[in-house]
Amino acid sequence: MARYIFITGGVVSSLGKGLASAALGALLQARGYTVRLRKLDPYLNVDPGTMSPFEHGEVFVTDDGAETDLDLGHYERFTGVSARKTDSVSSGRIYSTVLEKERRGDYLGKTIQVIPHVTNEIKEFIDIGSDEVDFMLCEIGGTVGDIEALPFFEAIRQYSQDKRGQCVFMHLTLLPYIAAAGELKTKPTQHSVKELRSIGIAPDILMCRSEHPIPEKERAKLALFCNVRPESVIPALDLKSIYDAPLAYHREGMDRAVLEAFNITDAPEPDLTKWHDVMDRVNHPEGEVKIAIIGKYTQLGDAYKSIAEALTHGGMANKVKVKTQWIDSEIFETGEDVTPQLEGFNAILVPGGFGERGTEGMINAATYARTHNVPYFGICLGMQMAVTEAARNLAGIKDAGSEEFDSKSGEKSITPIVYHLKEWVEGNRTIQRSADDDKGGTMRLGAYNAVLKPGSRIAEIYGTETISERHRHRYEVDMSYRAALEAKGVDFAGISPDGKLPETIEIKDHPWYIGVQFHPELKSKPFEPHPLFASFVEAALKQSRFV
Ligand code: GLN
Repeated sequence: MARYIFITGGVVSSLGKGLASAALGALLQARGYTVRLRKLDPYLNVDPGTMSPFEHGEVFVTDDGAETDLDLGHYERFTGVSARKTDSVSSGRIYSTVLEKERRGDYLGKTIQVIPHVTNEIKEFIDIGSDEVDFMLCEIGGTVGDIEALPFFEAIRQYSQDKRGQCVFMHLTLLPYIAAAGELKTKPTQHSVKELRSIGIAPDILMCRSEHPIPEKERAKLALFCNVRPESVIPALDLKSIYDAPLAYHREGMDRAVLEAFNITDAPEPDLTKWHDVMDRVNHPEGEVKIAIIGKYTQLGDAYKSIAEALTHGGMANKVKVKTQWIDSEIFETGEDVTPQLEGFNAILVPGGFGERGTEGMINAATYARTHNVPYFGICLGMQMAVTEAARNLAGIKDAGSEEFDSKSGEKSITPIVYHLKEWVEGNRTIQRSADDDKGGTMRLGAYNAVLKPGSRIAEIYGTETISERHRHRYEVDMSYRAALEAKGVDFAGISPDGKLPETIEIKDHPWYIGVQFHPELKSKPFEPHPLFASFVEAALKQSRFV
């Protein structure tokens, strides 16, 4: 029988609910339980696929091709459980399903209402696959009081009746510190809990984010005023590394409080070896590398969340600290020499992105990396720009470019080295697009296999010749330029199983120059760093010994 843990937030947003949920998942796993984590987002977009990275941060892609909230990335990184399409839903998706059903006549002429029709749809969603695991953790996005989130709160309130004894409510809040008074304030938390209780939800556990240790007196006060047990008020202090969360929250009694709320008294003690090892690597680095990430959405840290984490994991694999600098590629478009800006870095990473802005800067950075023997890692757009660079400067195709930046204006004349894929079939999956089809939902999404050439560097890094990685893109490097580029040392080392789509490129005569059409960062974990990131950081480390 599945047990449900509902995680809500109060006081302010951005308190790290996703991380707290992920850490709780990891702790339950460490005690031998199976878990799945789910995110319910109140916004009305059907999914985050069409949202700007500046609005919503990274779009996390699942193996089964869903474009989801970046919190699913945290869930995967902490639990190693691959997220699925059915682990992320928004109000928009729920309403659109209800309206589709209404149009089909599924409700047999009834008046459609938020309660019960919308709430039933939400409950059906929460229940999908819940019998496969010991604990289903559901995080509600936003903060209590948000209008859009009300149907979600009502649905989880109904659980407390429908599945009495099988659900626990955890509420994450903030205790602000008032320096003038030298005090942590509990009132916002009291109000937030009052708000929850007014819609019928009584939290069992309070997680309190705070910059300072919470004195016993405040803990007792919170327990009394919010109607929870004092040992269920869990301090969540700021952490130096997010990967310390499982250990830190365990010390504060988070998992114990949750198990007690379920009346589970015979749970095994957690085996936290793997988290101790991770933290040992974080706390005791034996060196440092400096990596420049040259991308389009560098002002917002969350836009490349998984890349930042995967680089940290690559550092853990090599026991070094990875210092990253996020640089907007547009600054390399002035025509001036890029050397002064880039010579201090041990490696360069160009991540994914959409649209023309900044791409010439990426190409200039790629030229620098290639000609200065600096390790280069191009991911998705970063691979497409690396190939464009090589086509222009090695294969002599001076006007090489991507159709992504050409089709709209039609003014520039380019040789499309990167083209808009119109039709492709793999197994039971088909991509078919019309000429101007570049709206959301038409991308090559999710996990696809690639075959790696024996003896290539990438095959050596993966230690295997067949891989599966996640994709999110519309454009493809054109295979008809393969011979011309390979003649110049740009090896198309990874190809789709049907032989039609390039998946990876590498330059042999270079310390480390690799481009991948997929997103390896999505599968990296602290306790299982992705081989490409581990190898890339290792190359940066070697490079650091020469500068
Ligand atoms: N814009 C490019 C494409 O659609 C790259 C996408 C990406 O980097 N995720 O193919």
